Amino acid sequence: MAKIDAVALETFRSCLTTSKVYTPGSEGYNDALIRWSDTGTKHAGVVIQPIDTADIRTALLWAQEHGVDIAVKGGGHSAAGTSSSDGGLVIDLSLMNQVMVDVPHKTITAQGGATWKEVDEAGAAHGLATVGGTVNHTGVGGLTLGGGYGWLSGQYGLTVDNLLSAQVILANGNLVHASATEHPDLFWGLRGAGYNFGVVVDFTYRAHDQKESVYSGVVGFAPERLEAVMEQLNALLALPDARSGAMCIFARAPDGSGPSIVVICFYNGPRDEGERRFSGLVALGPVFNTLDMIPYPVVNTLQNPQATYGDRKLFKGIFYEPPLDPTFARKIFDSIMAKTQAEPELAPSAIILEFTDMRKICEVPLTASPMASRSTTQNGIVFLRWTDPGKDQEYRAWAREVQSKWKTELDTKTQNQVITKVPQYINYAEPGDSVVTNIYGDNLARLQAVKAQYDPNNVFHKMHPIPLATSQ
Ligand SMILES: Cc1cc2nc3c(=O)[nH]c(=O)nc-3n(C[C@H](O)[C@H](O)[C@H](O)COP(=O)(O)OP(=O)(O)OC[C@H]3O[C@@H](n4cnc5c(N)ncnc54)[C@H](O)[C@@H]3O)c2cc1C
Repeated sequence: MAKIDAVALETFRSCLTTSKVYTPGSEGYNDALIRWSDTGTKHAGVVIQPIDTADIRTALLWAQEHGVDIAVKGGGHSAAGTSSSDGGLVIDLSLMNQVMVDVPHKTITAQGGATWKEVDEAGAAHGLATVGGTVNHTGVGGLTLGGGYGWLSGQYGLTVDNLLSAQVILANGNLVHASATEHPDLFWGLRGAGYNFGVVVDFTYRAHDQKESVYSGVVGFAPERLEAVMEQLNALLALPDARSGAMCIFARAPDGSGPSIVVICFYNGPRDEGERRFSGLVALGPVFNTLDMIPYPVVNTLQNPQATYGDRKLFKGIFYEPPLDPTFARKIFDSIMAKTQAEPELAPSAIILEFTDMRKICEVPLTASPMASRSTTQNGIVFLRWTDPGKDQEYRAWAREVQSKWKTELDTKTQNQVITKVPQYINYAEPGDSVVTNIYGDNLARLQAVKAQYDPNNVFHKMHPIPLATSQ
């Protein structure tokens, strides 16, 4: 990719009408490069923060004319740096973060740079919610475009299952409205491979009635309770309730008191039903328990203290077919604790396991959207956090080893039955991970055709690029 020419940059600047512009050395430039993980920070040649579509069009056409690399930043949570550019142009949508609620039609429209916090709060003001992320500072952009799981997935499916339309600026500068009836192929592609087609300037979601408070909180256990906790969580999945979900986290206690098991519980209903739902877990004698009726948007802040900005991070997807074998879970727990003991700078790291009722998600056929990991297989994450850039490769390799243990476990367990060809959730995957060869599964050929139509020159290729048909 070309280095940005000074004259071309000045021409570009003079064509922009409303954007903030940052270039190396200018005031605010370093702040504009900040991402959730320092591993995502790259030194762009120019960053623009537009507030309207005209400047995005100008930027896309200018960058292509001058052979400049293009990155699009939504919420900036890609630890792999897919919303950043080394020396190129970043279209940073963070000032386009308005959220509009249409109460009579029960829809929520979020601009492409909004975070889930804005969506949760705008919806809650009208007793509505859609399926959003469980950490409220993630962007609606990347999370939606790769599928999107949240606490409401048991009831309403994936975020993309609730996407009604999107407005997209294509590489040729055209603004198109994509929905089931307008540009339906593009709309299909956006719902799981959506980072590959253009800059999405807004998303319109179906909203659902949401009571102000839900039964939720965090329950912590001593390490010796691990097998019993797993059995309880397995039992909850075996008797699924669409209103309920859980997440189990293996981590060191932030106060340095040692290994711990934390379960975040969610029940979208009244206290007595929630108490009944989690009674088996609570009966195990947690060391702390914050379960209570809390506002729905607050549930999506419960993980924020562990998911703060700063430091180097990696986020690698793992997966399992329930029930999760407690003996295997114990091995994983021991290995992350041994690693964080041997390498103290990894202390804030964790293994996160989701326990989601997948029935609603699986009602949608695999070909209805490009998201190829729709199945009963559950998701999880290896989350590592450290400070020394010299350790990047070593820790990435270690996380891949952990991933491959899960793959072996899944393969052993599901011998002779194909549960899913793509167990890996695209938004938790990075190119090079142990199971990411064709993350789009059987949807790849159709995606290639949609790509050829909407982005024939492969301008948008940073996150799980669709291999062009000719390069097959
Ligand atoms: C702390 C944390 C919690 C998470 N929790 C969940 C969760 O609960 N559920 C879940 O499903 N996933 C979750 N994820 C994964 C998350 O979905 C991805 O990391 C997602 O890519 C983040 O989107 P972003 O907009 O913040 O990131 P960015 O880094 O800004 O973008 C990621 C990719 O999407 C593209 N992109 C973003 N916005 C747009 C847009 N408007 N138009 C075109 N392209 C765009 C970028 O170019 C980039 O390639 C979580 C991730 C983190 C780090």
